Amino acid sequence: MNAQLLRRPRPAEQSPLEMTDLPTPTPGDDELLLHVHVCGLCHTDLHTVEGEISGTLPIVPGHQIVGAVERVGASVRTFRAGDRVGVPWLHRACGECEFCRSDRENLCERAEFTGFHVNGGYAEYAVAPAAFAVKIPDGFDDAHAAPLLCAGIIGYRALRLSNVRPQQTLGLYGFGASAHIAIQIAARWGCEVFVATRGAEHQRLATELGAAWVGRAEDVPDASLHAAVMFAPAGTLVPETLRALRKGGTLTLAGIYMTPIPEMKYELLYHERMVRSVANATRDDARQLMQLAGQIPIRTEVQTFPLADANRALVALKRSAIHGAGVLIVSG
Ligand SMILES: [Zn+2]
Ligand SMILES: [Zn+2]
Repeated sequence: MNAQLLRRPRPAEQSPLEMTDLPTPTPGDDELLLHVHVCGLCHTDLHTVEGEISGTLPIVPGHQIVGAVERVGASVRTFRAGDRVGVPWLHRACGECEFCRSDRENLCERAEFTGFHVNGGYAEYAVAPAAFAVKIPDGFDDAHAAPLLCAGIIGYRALRLSNVRPQQTLGLYGFGASAHIAIQIAARWGCEVFVATRGAEHQRLATELGAAWVGRAEDVPDASLHAAVMFAPAGTLVPETLRALRKGGTLTLAGIYMTPIPEMKYELLYHERMVRSVANATRDDARQLMQLAGQIPIRTEVQTFPLADANRALVALKRSAIHGAGVLIVSG
């Protein structure tokens, strides 16, 4: 099968992914073999190919897989050949550690991640445990469903952890794939959403999707937000965002990677403001987001690239030059 393989991390501009012929994987007893139709691009893929985070090498990246079940392992009863399924970032959790036993499998001590520890969706075929795959809501074609699988799930978990309540003011910092989905959930909850993003194109999309205010981070009024979610991996924005947060508000950091957070005055944090990160997501987050996506229904904006252009697509992602979410068309 054709696969985009990462052997050695380096800057995206140096084309770290190589189109390679790999053997088609064989599903284990509890696994599905998927014929991959599309795979979404995520900032985590960029951090992986550039070596800011490191898992297994060599690796086929990609963890927003939409495909058709080609074959199921001997013990699988939940899916059948031909079913359309999605595969998210959490490939497998152990089910036994302290975190798994307390509904926090996203923090599992032995978690394996798709396209990071095991080969992902930048390839014609992929395997995944049936118990960690999700059904794709009807009404979404493959490409428009792909961003739900990480951008959507993480955006949803970040909103949950921000403790934002209906009708409150919410700040979203950065407006890429995740934020453009999160804003639609927040709008559904009746929140007044402030979007801090620099690009004119991102500002236009935010307005179209229901933002009450768009502008630069430094222009968000002091103490205007009940909660905020930061998608931009820029640590320098943390003090800026805390300034805009009301007393008792929570700032949730949604990225897997962030540049250093600068030294700041305690008064920015005082009055019980909280800063917390989001790490991965549980299967419940995935199922709840898929359900919301079908109900609202969430509209995803996608820009597609052929699998062969994965390096070019990652460069576009790095430059914030993708409109909405980037998706690789793998087959079909
Ligand atoms: Zn565990
Ligand atoms: Zn991701």
